[in-house]
Amino acid sequence: MFKIFRTRLQNKLVVAFILVLLIPTVVIVGYSLTTTRSILLDKARPDKLKAIEGQVANIQGRLLRIKDDLLLLSQGKAVKSYIQDISQSSDPASVNSAPVSLYLQSFIGHATDTYLDARILDVTGQEIVGAANVNGRPQNIIASDLESQADQPYFIRTIGLIPGEIFISRADLNAAQGKTLMPYVPIIRYAIPLYNDTETISGVLVLKALLKPVLAAGVESDPSVTTYVVDSDGSYLLNPDQSRLYGRVVGQKSGLAADLPDDSTAILGSSEGALFGSKDLPDALQVFAHVTLPGYDTIQWTLVQQQPLANILKEVNNTYLVIFSLAGLALLVAIGVGIAVTHSILRPVQELTHTAMAIAGGDLSQQVSPHSEDEIGELARTFNKMSQEVSTSHNTLEKRVEERTEQLREANRRTEEISRAKSIFLSNMSHELRTPLNVIIGYSSSMLDMPELYDNRTLDSDHERDVRLIKDSAYYLLGLITDILDLSKIEAGKLELHRSAVDLPELFKGILAISVGLVKDKPIQVRPDFSSDLPPVWADPTRVRQIMLNLMSNAIKFTQTGSVTLRARVENQVVHISVIDTGVGIEEKVLPYVFDRFEQGGRDIDKYYGGTGLGLDIAKQLAQMHGGDLTVQSQLGQGSIFTFGLPLADSQQLKQTPAEIQPTTTEEIASTVQILMPSQSIAPQSILLVEDEESMRSLMRRVLEEAGYVVVDAQDGEQAMKMAYGLLPDLIILDVRLPN
Ligand code: ADP
Repeated sequence: MFKIFRTRLQNKLVVAFILVLLIPTVVIVGYSLTTTRSILLDKARPDKLKAIEGQVANIQGRLLRIKDDLLLLSQGKAVKSYIQDISQSSDPASVNSAPVSLYLQSFIGHATDTYLDARILDVTGQEIVGAANVNGRPQNIIASDLESQADQPYFIRTIGLIPGEIFISRADLNAAQGKTLMPYVPIIRYAIPLYNDTETISGVLVLKALLKPVLAAGVESDPSVTTYVVDSDGSYLLNPDQSRLYGRVVGQKSGLAADLPDDSTAILGSSEGALFGSKDLPDALQVFAHVTLPGYDTIQWTLVQQQPLANILKEVNNTYLVIFSLAGLALLVAIGVGIAVTHSILRPVQELTHTAMAIAGGDLSQQVSPHSEDEIGELARTFNKMSQEVSTSHNTLEKRVEERTEQLREANRRTEEISRAKSIFLSNMSHELRTPLNVIIGYSSSMLDMPELYDNRTLDSDHERDVRLIKDSAYYLLGLITDILDLSKIEAGKLELHRSAVDLPELFKGILAISVGLVKDKPIQVRPDFSSDLPPVWADPTRVRQIMLNLMSNAIKFTQTGSVTLRARVENQVVHISVIDTGVGIEEKVLPYVFDRFEQGGRDIDKYYGGTGLGLDIAKQLAQMHGGDLTVQSQLGQGSIFTFGLPLADSQQLKQTPAEIQPTTTEEIASTVQILMPSQSIAPQSILLVEDEESMRSLMRRVLEEAGYVVVDAQDGEQAMKMAYGLLPDLIILDVRLPN
């Protein structure tokens, strides 16, 4: 239990630690990520611009070097003497061009990757000698391939230049006279005027260079970076897609716009810049710069480099990794700290709980050792104080409980004494009440039924009604006293069962005989419904008889016509005894209360029949004392069935008690006598009547003598013994309580 509690608390604290750390971590990480990105991009801008400016400078350097090359070439001895010769000759074609051709070949042969050809034009624009690199080897250009370039800008503009000045053409497709030449690539021409010794212009030297080695010089070697160079008219001078190069797409001047969709105008318009993630290329960085050469309006190029933003943000990813690792580490530390703190908090709490449990288990001597000066230590000290107080009050309480227990014992003793006194009082009282009641019943009976005792005088109807009332009331009182005595015994636990193996058919016979007497003149049949070989039951025969007499007398009382059946059946080691009548029955709503004390069904009929309302209560309790119960089923107007069960006697019990005829109680004799008397005639025989009560004695004597017996009486025990021995009477009628 505590373990679960502890584990839960620990989890709670660890989660709290994580949350406390996680929230700022998430905020910091999120903030760092966004700011790192923009910082990196801001930082990249000058770097990238610087790099592209370097590349522009490289290109400019290459362009200038070609200029130097041309100047050098024009000052070669072979060129100079050739120019001198043609300026002095009337037929320049007749001048020997072999030395200059060889010179030109050797010059361009040293840079086959840069130069395509070198030609000398006369002042009319006609090419007169030339050398070209064909498949990587320098060759003389044959006469038939030499053409007039008189209308070409590079000729027209160069012919007007002063010595040492050089013209650089616009970038062009490798073409001549409207024909494209192999290879189909962009080229650039440099031209220089050639003067003779008399400072007269005598020709033009033109050098044709490939643009690619010029432009590719110093360009970013990173394969993820795409480089474009575009001329001012939009033609591509450099493009990884060869098919889009200058002139290959005829008439297409907006090549760059197609490759740099939405920002081409911005790029072409400004001198340099860097764009990060434009609308059409959100994941790309574009850096651009213009390539120009001072003094040459023919060079107006733009260098553009495109690369994925990820190239730059690579560093961000590294930063992310660091941030996430740190955050993870922080979380691990939080969990560790959480567990450690929880442990240190919970250890004293755990000790506290163990001690509390020990105290709860009754060991009040337990104390907690306060580990620290903090709140938990304070809690431990307070707990100890509390447990001491609990211990003190526990001891006081125990002492008090002992005192109270003693008082209770005393009270119990007194109650028992009082109860005993009550029982003695009740039994004395009932005896004392019963004797005069019997006298009242006796005298009123004889006044009503024995006129011969009064010289054959009968009572007039008024007197007879009153005397009958006296007799009925006396009977009622007698029944009530007997029932109350029984109930008080049951309640005091004083009523003991004297169990023995009881032969039920024998007992039933007696009950049936009495029941027949109770029927009087009602048209009711009393029916036996049991097997004569019912096995013996383990019961108190007196009490069984009491239950049955109550049930039978009720059944007869509440039945006007029909039958009252006594049924017995054996089932599951129990004999179920039922009294079934066809009488008035009991209303359903009254049914649950018929066993209640003084409950009489609340009907006029009950008042008419009289009774105490105690019979069923006693019967039910007696049935329960036998281990069973008394139950009822009934329907108004149809009759009732009362049933109770008695256990069968086992073999041991059968052996233990020899079947013994239980003595019949005086009450039973009285009621039986009452029922059977006086119509029965008995043969004259001697009776010894022993009774200390004078009135009772003389009443009984009169009754018995009237019935024809010879009666001798005695007043106390001693006298009775003597007379019994002397007379040997046929019958002795003896009061159970006698003096002496
Ligand atoms: P009482 O001495 O008044 O008959 P009981 O305890 O024996 O007292 O019975 C209580 C009440 O139960 C009776 O007053 C009567 O209303 C009802 N009762 C008992 N037995 C029967 C029966 N066989 N048929 C109808 N009513 C009965």
